[in-house]
Amino acid sequence: MNETGPTDTIEASNGEPHDVPASGAGLSVDEGKPDEDENDIILRTEGITKSFGPLIVLRGIDIHLRRGEVLGLVGDNGSGKSTLVKILCGFQRPDAGRIFVEGKQMSLRTVKEARAQGIETVYQDLALVPALTVYQNLFLNRELTRFGRIKWLRNNEMRRLARQYLSDIKVDIPSIDALVETLSGGQRQAVALARATRQEAKVLLLDEPLAAMGAKESALVIELVKDLSHNRNVSMIVIDHNYTHLFELCDRLNVLQEGRITYDQNVEETSIEQLTELMVADYRRRVMAGRVELER
Ligand code: ADP
Ligand code: MG
Repeated sequence: MNETGPTDTIEASNGEPHDVPASGAGLSVDEGKPDEDENDIILRTEGITKSFGPLIVLRGIDIHLRRGEVLGLVGDNGSGKSTLVKILCGFQRPDAGRIFVEGKQMSLRTVKEARAQGIETVYQDLALVPALTVYQNLFLNRELTRFGRIKWLRNNEMRRLARQYLSDIKVDIPSIDALVETLSGGQRQAVALARATRQEAKVLLLDEPLAAMGAKESALVIELVKDLSHNRNVSMIVIDHNYTHLFELCDRLNVLQEGRITYDQNVEETSIEQLTELMVADYRRRVMAGRVELER
């Protein structure tokens, strides 16, 4: 991996030193498709490591996410998927490694800094406040206020926007004034997704968005994610244990094992069977090596 400066986009590609001489009207510049065009990559990591005390969770993670791409992240429980997501959204700091957003190296020190780069997250344990209404949750910590510092909440404006926003992304919630605690799991997840995407997220990180959800609710969230991907061109990293969901949603899959990315394939080039095989083989290896305790 070579280092790419912020915006030095003039690439001398194809081994030709420079193709400066503008060749008249023809514009027949040979595009010569580079196999990994940095401009096409919205988020990239290099050598991310993370330990918790003696426990080494991430041992050098190199991932990349292309514009408009949905990348699935697969790995056993405890393999570090959530930790990686928390690092990418500024919630945790890596011990080492680099993060590039649109080619620029960024130190995402806080969730706020990541948000400023257009990175939004729906956490595994999603952070909605059950005792607040739908619209209050949608605007949580980002309330619209009047007159600058004087914090007058523009409730009616927020309610109007909340209603419009949910209908824009085709989320059907009984009322924006409903308390979140009265909603079903799928509806809550939809509100969490709506909140994450409300700010024109460029990158959306979804940590098990379908966990503990029924078939109907899963379908709702899957449709929403597809819509965000296809119609709004949001790039996403999705963590899910259900391979069927992943194959439906994702363009590409990465497997996280033993702190490293061990597998990187486009979904068309792999199958649920192949992925299952890979995971089972690894599990077997670790059982044999006595590294997995068969609990319960
Ligand atoms: P996954 O999401 O793949 O199931 P996690 O990233 O949640 O895995 O966790 C990876 C490992 O790191 C687990 O062994 C977990 O117990 C540990 N871990 C995660 N967060 C912390 C933390 N804040 N402090 C200590 N250990 C942690
Ligand atoms: Mg997790």
